[in-house]
Amino acid sequence: MYRIVFLGPPGAGKGTQAATLARALGVPHLSTGDLLRGAVAAATPLGREADGYMRAGRLVPDDLVLGILGERLDAPDARSGFILDGFPRNLAQAEILERRVVLDHVVSFEIPSAELVRRLSARRICPTCQAVYNLDSKPPRVPGRCDRDGSELLQRPDDRPEAVEVRLRVYAEQTAPLLDFYRRRGLLRPLDASGAPEAIAERLRRLIA
Ligand code: AMP
Repeated sequence: MYRIVFLGPPGAGKGTQAATLARALGVPHLSTGDLLRGAVAAATPLGREADGYMRAGRLVPDDLVLGILGERLDAPDARSGFILDGFPRNLAQAEILERRVVLDHVVSFEIPSAELVRRLSARRICPTCQAVYNLDSKPPRVPGRCDRDGSELLQRPDDRPEAVEVRLRVYAEQTAPLLDFYRRRGLLRPLDASGAPEAIAERLRRLIA
């Protein structure tokens, strides 16, 4: 079974790798960040509440995140596996997850912090199809426009330098302790997450094969 968690700092490439691997394995890619951004874009009550936390780079309260993720985890397509990207992000979330599902792998994305900051500041996203670009390593064919649907590319509000600093601190304080939590359970699979996406994808496939 492929019940996989991707753990790692913002900008480590979790979303990019999760999308590719989920397609290859035929399991859903469950990104709490994408689910929350969808709720913000749709201006649901939950989205309106989450928006301020996200812009500031802080964690959204656990009950809101669980509200949005719980239904997705119970959906029939997630029964044979899933890639959880961006969840859990603190010990309380990890403990809740542990009571609900048995995991097979927790992949820990390892990358120097200088590379993270570089990647986050160069990241642009398509607001229509969520495609992710990087102005240095994966620029769009037409500057500022999505290759797939021509939408104008945007910078995520939380990829601005002030929010990036908060996100890296939140990661170190609240999420990094999960490395030990999963190491003790024998689930942690460290992945060298520096370099080109294709090379990382190949290392990832070998890791979970
Ligand atoms: P991401 O796309 O994973 O970088 O998430 C973007 C933002 O959504 C984070 O900075 C948080 O504000 C929020 N978020 C995503 N996942 C979680 C989570 N598991 N717990 C709390 N907040 C989250």
